[in-house]
Amino acid sequence: MSNAAQVLLDDSRGREPAPLEALQPVPVSAPAKPLTVVYIAGDGRSGSTLLDRLIGAYPGTFSCGELGNLLQSAAADDEFCACGSLAASCGFWREVLTRWGASVPGFSEREYRLLQLRYERLRSLLRPGSDMTFDSENFARYAEYTRALFTTIADLSGASVIIDSSKGPARALALSRVPGLDIRMLHLVRDVRGVAYSLRNPNRGKPKEGAPVKKRSNLRFAGTWATINYFCEYVRPKIAGPNLFLRYEDYTADLDATLAQVAELLSTQRIGFEASSGHLMKQGHQVAGNDGRMRPVQRISTDEAWRRQFGFVMRKGLYLLVLPLMLRYRYRP
Ligand SMILES: [Zn+2]
Repeated sequence: MSNAAQVLLDDSRGREPAPLEALQPVPVSAPAKPLTVVYIAGDGRSGSTLLDRLIGAYPGTFSCGELGNLLQSAAADDEFCACGSLAASCGFWREVLTRWGASVPGFSEREYRLLQLRYERLRSLLRPGSDMTFDSENFARYAEYTRALFTTIADLSGASVIIDSSKGPARALALSRVPGLDIRMLHLVRDVRGVAYSLRNPNRGKPKEGAPVKKRSNLRFAGTWATINYFCEYVRPKIAGPNLFLRYEDYTADLDATLAQVAELLSTQRIGFEASSGHLMKQGHQVAGNDGRMRPVQRISTDEAWRRQFGFVMRKGLYLLVLPLMLRYRYRP
C-alpha cells in the first residue's frame, strides 16, 4: 500500500521529525473565500501522479503531489521533488516550510505529524462517533496547521486551486472539515489486476536503493484495494461540494473527456489536450509519487500489461476476490 495512510502508519515507527528552527511569526494572508483543493483519493498505482499533473495544467492551479507526506519527504535524504532537487533542498518547499512554521504559533513538526496520525489514517474512520471528533480541540489545532499550510502554498505559488494527490480517504474527510478549505474530491479507481501487476513488478516501483521489494500475497493486494475504495465510497457523500469518480482506464483512454470532467469539477473553462506540445506536463514541485512527475513530457496510454502477463487463474482469482466492487466499477472478468 503506497497511500498516505500507509506511509503514516509506517512513519509512526520511524525516526523523530527534525525540528524547524525557531522563527518569528509571519502573518499569512487569510483567503477572502475558501481555497479550492482538488483531492485525489484511491489506492496506489492507479495513475494519481499523472492525473495530478494533468489537472495541474489548468491555469491557476498548483500540483503538490502527495502533500500529506511533505514533512516525511523533506526530512528524507533520498526523496526528490519533481523539479529535480532533493525535496529537502527544493527552494519552493523550503520557503513553504519556513513560512508555514512561522505562521502557526508554537509550530512543531512532531505535533503536526501526531495530529496527522490521529485524523488521516483509515482507522480514524473506524472510531465510534468519528464525526464528533471534528469538534475537538485537537482537531481545531490540526485545522490550524493544515489551513496555514495550504494558504502558504497558495500565497507562494499564486494559485487559487491546490491539487493534493495524497490518496488516503481519511485525509479527504479531515481536510473537508477544515474551515477555509473547499474540498473537491476525485475518487480514482483502477482495475485491481492492474494495481496488483504494477505492485508486483519491481521495475515499476520506486524502492529505495538496496531495499528489498516487499512480497505480498494477492489476498493482501485485493484486500487493500477493496478497503481503500470502500472507504473512498464511504467518505465521498460526507464531503459537500462537487466530486468526481474516474476510472484509470477511462481517463487514460480519453484525455479530452477527462479534462472536460475536471473543468466541471473546478467550475472553470475546459482546456484541450495537446500531447505534441507537452504543455500539459509543466514542471512543478510535486513531492512523493512515482518518477513520472519528473518527466517534462509524458506519453499517456492505458497500461494493461497485466492482461498479457497474468495467467487465467490470477486474472479470474483477483477478480473474484473483490467481485462486488469490480461489478460496481464495471470491470469485466
Ligand atoms: Zn521542487
